[in-house]
This record gives sequence, structure tokens and C-alpha cells, in this order.
Amino acid sequence: MWPEFIKFSQPDATISGGCLDCLVSFKSKFYINNAEVLHLTDKIYVVGHKSPDTDSVTSAIAYANLKNALGMKEVVPAAAGDINGETKFLLDYFKVPYPEKLTDATDKKVILVDHNEMAQAVDKLNLENIVEIVDHHKIGGLATGKPIFFLNEPVGATGGIIANLYEQNNIAISKQMAGLMMSAILSDTVLFKSPTCTPRDRVAVEKLAKIAGVDPMKFGMELLKAKSNMSTKTAKEILLGDFKKFDFSGTKSGVGQVEVMDLADLAPKRAAILDEMNKMKEAEKLDMVVLMLTDVMKEASDLLFVGSAAAAAGFEKAFGGKLANNSIYKEKCLSRKKQVVPPLEGAFKK
Ligand code: MG
Ligand code: MG
Ligand code: MG
Repeated sequence: MWPEFIKFSQPDATISGGCLDCLVSFKSKFYINNAEVLHLTDKIYVVGHKSPDTDSVTSAIAYANLKNALGMKEVVPAAAGDINGETKFLLDYFKVPYPEKLTDATDKKVILVDHNEMAQAVDKLNLENIVEIVDHHKIGGLATGKPIFFLNEPVGATGGIIANLYEQNNIAISKQMAGLMMSAILSDTVLFKSPTCTPRDRVAVEKLAKIAGVDPMKFGMELLKAKSNMSTKTAKEILLGDFKKFDFSGTKSGVGQVEVMDLADLAPKRAAILDEMNKMKEAEKLDMVVLMLTDVMKEASDLLFVGSAAAAAGFEKAFGGKLANNSIYKEKCLSRKKQVVPPLEGAFKK
């Protein structure tokens, strides 16, 4: 399953016990092994996307834990930004330490989880330093110079893919790791309501909840409450909490999402949020900034928009409506990945 890494962790018997002639005959192999020995001294960071969500943070922790169990002690989890309220609640509940914050990847080897687009990755990441990718998003145009382990599956969360990797490698899942991976699936699929949810996600949650010793739906509601607590958040924090950049055929965009139990909770902050969106558009030189205000109970999203006239036309085309008071309201809309990004991509395609 891990041919490259099994090779890293095993001493090379053919060389250590060999004679000088052997060294000559194995010259190219010896050279490769020297390169690998250098790698052994490096830390490898497992890291999710910027504006880290629960799946990004817990996938980094669970995958680093799996790699450690497989003998790769140099692998450590990291988060590409501040950890949100939902993730803090979860890590505190299962008494898992917060991963270190990694915001500059200069000279760092990384395993990307829960994203595969450079625009969403930790800053100053060199493509050559990406060791692996484990994700569940669209493939976003990343090109590497050498072959890497790249596992991408169309399921509800990266957490479920990693739970499978534990199983395939015969590594027992601890109560803590089960709790984290279960929560990643519940969070990303909004308690199975998102169209991104697959039968595999439900099976994984059922298995993981047993190990974690919690009622998944009850625990999921606690997660949602922690995620949707807006009372102490500023407009800027609301905009940046789950924000991703995209390039739609040259239209530079940012698409954020905030999930609440009741949209009325956000109404008093709407004007301030729009103001922050405009500031972000100017500062980052974007053509448009979109923020999904998602009501997880009604399963609908108010899609806030600021941007150029051309971007507004594309936005209206994408969602088949007219902007009114800076937004279009969409019923049955929960998923940025499946219901917002693809129509925007389609509308701006040249
Ligand atoms: Mg994510
Ligand atoms: Mg995810
Ligand atoms: Mg999400």
C-alpha cells in the first residue's frame, strides 16, 4: 500500500552488508538511498486548506496519526490558519491537542489533505515539496514534476477516505481518531443533508460512532451549534471563516460559506458583511466575492454577491435569477462544491 514509505523505514540490507564491489554494482541504488536518508531528517507536515474547517484540521491529525502508526514518525499535523469554533469544540471534547499552525511552507515538505488547489493551499508552498494528496474535491489544475500518491474520491469528506486507509493498512482506529473522522463527515455533509453525501459516508459514520462512543446525530447537532454560533464573531471573521479562492476562466473570485441554524441570526450583520466583502474584493484584486449564508435547517442559501458588472451578469446566469439587495436566495442549496462552484464555472466559461 505504501511502497515508497516502507522503503524509507527499512534499512537496506543489500548495501550495509555488502563489499566494495557490491557498492559499485548498486551505485544508482546507493545514490537513491542517500537521497532518501536526507528526507528522513525532514518533518513532513500534513495540512489542509487555508481558512481551515473541521475536515481539514481533523484529516491532518488523523492522517499524521496513521503515518506515525505505520512507522513514519516524521509526519506531523498542521493547520493552515486559526482553528474555528466547531473544530475547537471537537478537539476539546475528545481531548486531542491542537495541531501547530503553518502559514508559511517555505522549504517544507507537505501532504495536502482536503484540497488540491494551490490557491487554497498554505502560502509559499513549492509544488516540488508536495509529497502526497488525499482529497474529495474537483481536481484544480495542480501539476507536479514527479509522480506522487494522489488519492481523490467523490465522497462527503476527506475523513471517510482516511478511515478507509486505516482499515486497508490494518491499523486500529482509536476512540479519539474515530471521533475526529466521524465529525469531519458530519460537518462536511451537514449531518448527511448535503448532496455531496454518499452511502459510504453514512456507513463510515455508523462504524466510527461505535468506536467513538457517541450518538452521531446528537453529537452532530452539538457540532452544528458550535459552528453556527455567530454572536461573538465580527463581520470579517464571518467572511473569512470558510473562504476559498477560485479562478473561473479568468474571473478571479472568492467564495465563502457560513452555516447557521437560522438566517435571522445573520440579519443584523448583513450590511457589515457586505462592507467586508467589498474591502476584500479591493484588497485582493478580485472580480467578485460571494458568500453563501446557509440555513442548515431550511436547507437553503442566501448567496451574497459583490463584484464588477460583468461578474454580476455571470453570477445571475449561474443561478438563474436577478440580484436584489446584493443577493440571490436559493432553495435546496447547501454545497459550495456541488451547487455553487460548478454553475459559476459554467457561467464564466469562454
Ligand atoms: Mg474543507
Ligand atoms: Mg472536506
Ligand atoms: Mg465545507
